Amino acid sequence: MDSIIGWFYLSTNNPVVPLYARLGHRYQSQELEALEHIQHLLSLLPTRFPFKFEQSMALGAYGKNYEQSDANIPARNLLLAVEAANRGATEIAIVCQADERTLPDRNEMFFKRSSDLLSQLYEKHVRVSPVFQEWDKTDMVNWFLDTHDLDLSYQDRVNVLLATTACYQPVEIDKKHQQCGNCPACFRRAVALINNGLTETYAQNVFESDVAREYLDKLGRYSVLRQKRTVMALYKSGSSLYKQALKLTQDQRSLESR
Ligand SMILES: [Zn+2]
Repeated sequence: MDSIIGWFYLSTNNPVVPLYARLGHRYQSQELEALEHIQHLLSLLPTRFPFKFEQSMALGAYGKNYEQSDANIPARNLLLAVEAANRGATEIAIVCQADERTLPDRNEMFFKRSSDLLSQLYEKHVRVSPVFQEWDKTDMVNWFLDTHDLDLSYQDRVNVLLATTACYQPVEIDKKHQQCGNCPACFRRAVALINNGLTETYAQNVFESDVAREYLDKLGRYSVLRQKRTVMALYKSGSSLYKQALKLTQDQRSLESR
């Protein structure tokens, strides 16, 4: 979802090649399925955003060998940037949200150092830069649904969004893949969607799941905005965790103001 919105966002200024690198990771086939679906959806519309994604096979076994149990793939963003540079790109964009700016492969140092290194190795100016560094996922979805810069109807935008995937561990139900509703990616996605008035089906209720409880435990460590977004999502979904989350954030606020 993030990369698709990022592609539209950048494409409103200049043509951008969407590159998908097959890493051989667990949820690769669901991502490819989603991309093909979106490509098909957009090909039927008279839009000035013809989405045609390129695929790279060069990193095919990396994710299979090194993907960790939490779906993290070490150095992934660096490898993706190298692969884009190998294909001649000099302006490389990687989605990175406000809350991710402390992660080692998404912080300012990473973007600066990888730009310097690739410029040196490829002997030309190469820049790796973050997209959406000031926004969170709710802001991104909100931009995509509301912006006047896209010649797509509201329903077309919703169709594109819901065709994307985020889940780290999709489950198969009736021979169809469904998002699990119990992984961090599902939770973050569901929060952004419901804060923008959209819901979808998960294999289990994502707002009552174990992962929702885990986020509740971590809530105090998040920015005030992220806390509010999470609490709002729990409220809108009718989650039984809402009151607990609200109390937690209010307690923290009154503690801080003392
Ligand atoms: Zn999931």
